[in-house]
Amino acid sequence: MVDHIPVKNLPDATGWIEVICGSMFSGKTEELIRRLRRAQIARQRVAIFKPLIDTRYSDNRIVSHSGVSLPSITVSHTSQILDNVGGVDVIGIDEAQFYDIGLIRICEDLADRGHRIIVAGLDQDYLGQPFEPMPQLLAVAEYITKTLAICMVCGNPANRTQRIARREERVLVGAEDTYEARCRNCWTTNLDEVRRTEKP
Ligand code: ZN
Repeated sequence: MVDHIPVKNLPDATGWIEVICGSMFSGKTEELIRRLRRAQIARQRVAIFKPLIDTRYSDNRIVSHSGVSLPSITVSHTSQILDNVGGVDVIGIDEAQFYDIGLIRICEDLADRGHRIIVAGLDQDYLGQPFEPMPQLLAVAEYITKTLAICMVCGNPANRTQRIARREERVLVGAEDTYEARCRNCWTTNLDEVRRTEKP
């Protein structure tokens, strides 16, 4: 996927920003890990960041829902990213929707300095609203990949995240017990009418 993206920074080349976005269970983190692994195989130096809020699986690794993982640095504020990129070629940032709006400036500055930035995150919240800072990152990125899940109700392509739990805060960290991937027909903002699909 997206093999038109160059894999090597030439000495005089600019950096750039890649964004991988989509609903939950669409393979965003897996695609991020795939790109970072390829860079490591090419002996490029990689740093991977995840926000402190996301401790679902591991404190010092990013982990996809399918269990693939890479070592990562947990940061509680966007500025800590800048403290950890010395000598690094490629910078991976997972769960970007949990960072503040300052992430955009940091990604732009790092790309200006010649780094390859790969950002993964949810493009919509559970109400279908653009999830900052993803819209702004999509606007400034050189490369964008939208990953689709499969609707857990009907099997159509799914780009929405259905909240199953009757909770109304925007940020509610969870996985299969809290969310399902849904297509636009099967997705609803009315949490009172949500039915969890039967697991096989
Ligand atoms: Zn559906």
